[in-house]
Amino acid sequence: MKIRAEIQKSLYNQYFNRDKHWSYQLERCGILVGKKISDEYFLITEIIEDVNPISQSPFGVFRSTEHIYPKLIESIEQNPDSDYLGEWHTHPNGPNSASFIDILSMRSMINNPIYGDIEWAILLIIIKYQREILYYFDKKGFEIIKLEKKTTII
Ligand SMILES: [Zn+2]
Repeated sequence: MKIRAEIQKSLYNQYFNRDKHWSYQLERCGILVGKKISDEYFLITEIIEDVNPISQSPFGVFRSTEHIYPKLIESIEQNPDSDYLGEWHTHPNGPNSASFIDILSMRSMINNPIYGDIEWAILLIIIKYQREILYYFDKKGFEIIKLEKKTTII
C-alpha cells in the first residue's frame, strides 16, 4: 500500500515557517485535522497547536487533550467532513526521526478505548530547517509515508 498525505503548501509554510517557529528551541506540538479520502490518501486541512502544553522542553513536549479538544470540535463544526487525523510535534534539536517514545505513544493510542478506539493515526515530525517526516500507524505497525505539499489539492 502506497500511503500518502497532502497539505496545502501555504498552510504548511504558514505554520511551520522556520523564522516564526524556530526562534526558540522548545518542542511544540498539536494535532492534524483533515479528511481520509481513501485508505491510501489523507488530506490535512488544519493544524492545531496546544500553545500551553502540559510540559515542554527542548527535548520533549506533552500536549493536553483538554486544550486540543475544544479546537478540534470547533474545526469539525466548521468543516463537518473533517476529523482528527493524528499528531504533530517539532524536533528543534533532533533526532531526525520519531523517537522510541514517539513510536510507543502513537502505538498506545491505536485501538485504545481511552482515545476513542482510534484504528489508525498519522504522526508528523517537523525537524530543524523545515524538513519533516510523516508516519502512518495502525494496529499492524507503522511506516513512513510521503507528505506532498501542493499549491492546489483535489
Ligand atoms: Zn518526538
